[in-house]
Amino acid sequence: MYSEGIEETIAALATPRGEGAIGIVRVSGNLAPAILRELFRTRQGGTRASFDSHRLYYGHVVGEEDRRIDEVLAVYMKPPATYTREDVVEIHCHGGPAAVQSVLEEVLRQGARPAEPGEFTFRAFMNGRLDLTQAEAVTDVIQARTRRGLQAASEQLGGALGRRIGELKTRLVRLLAHVEAYIDFPDEDIPEPDLQAFRTSASSLVSDTGHLLDTYRSGRILREGTSVAIVGRPNVGKSSLLNLLLAEDRAIVTDLPGTTRDTIEESLSINGIPVRLIDTAGIRESHDMAEAEGVRRSRMALENAEIVLLVIDGSRSPHASDLELVRAVGNRPAVMVINKSDLPATSEPLPPAGAQPWVHLSAKTGQGLEQLRQTIQKLVLSESGSLEGLMITRARHQEALKETREGLLRFLSGMEEGEPTEVLALDLREALDGLDDILGVTTADDVLGAIFSEFCIGK
Ligand code: GDP
Repeated sequence: MYSEGIEETIAALATPRGEGAIGIVRVSGNLAPAILRELFRTRQGGTRASFDSHRLYYGHVVGEEDRRIDEVLAVYMKPPATYTREDVVEIHCHGGPAAVQSVLEEVLRQGARPAEPGEFTFRAFMNGRLDLTQAEAVTDVIQARTRRGLQAASEQLGGALGRRIGELKTRLVRLLAHVEAYIDFPDEDIPEPDLQAFRTSASSLVSDTGHLLDTYRSGRILREGTSVAIVGRPNVGKSSLLNLLLAEDRAIVTDLPGTTRDTIEESLSINGIPVRLIDTAGIRESHDMAEAEGVRRSRMALENAEIVLLVIDGSRSPHASDLELVRAVGNRPAVMVINKSDLPATSEPLPPAGAQPWVHLSAKTGQGLEQLRQTIQKLVLSESGSLEGLMITRARHQEALKETREGLLRFLSGMEEGEPTEVLALDLREALDGLDDILGVTTADDVLGAIFSEFCIGK
């Protein structure tokens, strides 16, 4: 799926472009050690005939006619203990655009070709160092914005999900082998099929697969964050609340390519829960907005969010638009934020809401913020279940596990209906395909292409 064969040596900048203290050029493939020998000069200006594995060497990278290009630290890593299981070289040079580009150009001049996005990890996968769930976790680790998200991604990278799927697969293969024994040797002297035993193993696989499927909600939240919209009529304090949250809870944010949409998104970490605050309501301009426009945008915003913070001004008599928005929220997961609690409360009753929790807040003083955080946390956890433990994190895993579960359920009902063994075995084979898909054993090229194209170049 990558433009050239896996036998070629590839190279790329592994650190972000721009100015930084250090830039790393990474090389993988069997030319890597020779390329390093050609480029590298010791402190005294000599060449090195060989490099010990996993040892850092100080020196310079030189170009044509031995002209010094940059001062570097270089390391050669001998397979199999490398990221790709191939020969790997990393050259740590100065992290300026010209420095990294010049070093990279020299590496390419010596016979490497530019790596495509994710190609290093693709090789690690092809060479059996990572299964597909681990390869996916590589991007998740890089993109994690909260400590909890990082922890979940690291566990997946460590192989936790792959092992669990592998264990289900072992049980499924054993069941399949028993079932197929009756196809292959129908006349032989093997005992009658132990239907009860088949039923028991298939049922326990169904329930374990179901449990794993249930973890998708939390896995997805950890990976992508839960989307939250702050809504309310103009002047209730939405942008004040937004600023309060941003000042205290803004997650480690960088400009991610691909997150620029027509809405502004801010990443927050609310009590460790990754949250994407979506400004479809035009929060930042809301207090200059006409009432009807403000309400219209709020309605739109709440359609697109998993969790709604509906802000109401608790110091003023409720307005018809407050009521309209309460109705629009309906039974969605939401928190009713009664803002401006530092001012005397209105004596009029607040609009009757559904069963959602209420929090009194002053976006001005910050009073009530901790309670709001806890309420949001509780709400997310009640929607998602625990954010701890083993989880599936992608729609792809969910699809594949559903296939597995459906195959097993067909097998069970087929048994009840007395289907021929061949048909039963086919159901189990389909169930097995789901698990193999997750691990990347049988994953189609276009699916692999989609997964690895998410990666940055150099990873
Ligand atoms: P938005 O239109 O809903 O975004 O509302 P803003 O956040 O712009 O707030 C409208 C006005 O209410 C501004 O003058 C804020 O300073 C004020 N305000 C917002 N929150 C509070 C609060 O908790 N207490 C008080 N006293 N004033 C607030």
